[in-house]
Amino acid sequence: MKIGFIGLGNMGAPMALNLVKAGHAVTGFDTAAPMPEGVTRAGTAAEAATGAEVVITMLPNGAILRAVAAEVIPAMSKGAVLCDCSTVDVESARTVAADARAAGLGALDAPVSGGVGGAAAGTLTFMVGGDEASFATVSPLFAVMGQKAVHCGAAGAGQAAKICNNMILGVTMIATCEAFALADKLGLDRQKMFDVVSTSSGYSWSMNAYCPAPGVGPKSPADDGYKPGFAAELMLKDLRLSQMAAEGADADTPMGELATRLYESFVEREDGRGMDFSAMLPRFEKRHRG
Ligand code: NAD
Repeated sequence: MKIGFIGLGNMGAPMALNLVKAGHAVTGFDTAAPMPEGVTRAGTAAEAATGAEVVITMLPNGAILRAVAAEVIPAMSKGAVLCDCSTVDVESARTVAADARAAGLGALDAPVSGGVGGAAAGTLTFMVGGDEASFATVSPLFAVMGQKAVHCGAAGAGQAAKICNNMILGVTMIATCEAFALADKLGLDRQKMFDVVSTSSGYSWSMNAYCPAPGVGPKSPADDGYKPGFAAELMLKDLRLSQMAAEGADADTPMGELATRLYESFVEREDGRGMDFSAMLPRFEKRHRG
């Protein structure tokens, strides 16, 4: 397939590389990042989109996505599909999809779970909003870049699934970290705490797969000085998106709201910027000592 790929950063580069390895012709554009081997560099986003059957975007936020979409939609061939894999607000996803459809294009919002490790290994999960025909067109590419693609519903449904998932993740990570800090205070050994909780009703992905306590559980950023992984500021971005969506939909999300406030304080007023989001554990430890 002829693919345009816009935004080849930490996630986009390995995703594009996997498409190249699978034999697809990929033309890329990024304002700063170098092209991975085998990706043809375009001079502009519009140039990368010209003649492509599918254009994939992997960009930092909704404002940038809207600006890039305004440039690429007029350049795309009728019937081609614009597939955004960034994590953005539901409103931007729906607006971009409507603009693409008005121009005779297919459109999908297809954010991912799995992080840079999953992007490199081709094991991402795609949560996808948009029409059936576009989903069918892009499915072979999802199969190359990931292990699972769930068609969640109409435009915006992929972003809705993503921010709900990450709201749960933010809340459970905080709960796991504060429980470890409490266990410390109570004199409970961290390994024992893991052995119990990871096989009891308090288990979660945060505890079992991404344990925030160094030296406990499978290898995670905690074992590497809390180098991200999934940065605290990206978690804050996703939590803010969840609260923006909750406000727009009049949904009551008190735990999501509190998690947003905690990550906001951690990233903007404490020392969380540049740390993995699981560094909430040393943050709670410090507060206890203070
Ligand atoms: P990144 O900052 O490494 O990559 C974004 C890239 O977009 C950069 O290379 C930047 O130069 C480029 N860019 C910015 N503006 C541009 C423009 N106008 N035209 C072309 N390129 C432009 O970020 P990332 O970690 O690759 O994340 C990308 C998206 O994926 C984000 O929406 C993020 O929330 C989401 N995501 C990230 C992870 C993760 O673990 N990193 C996991 C899941 C989802």
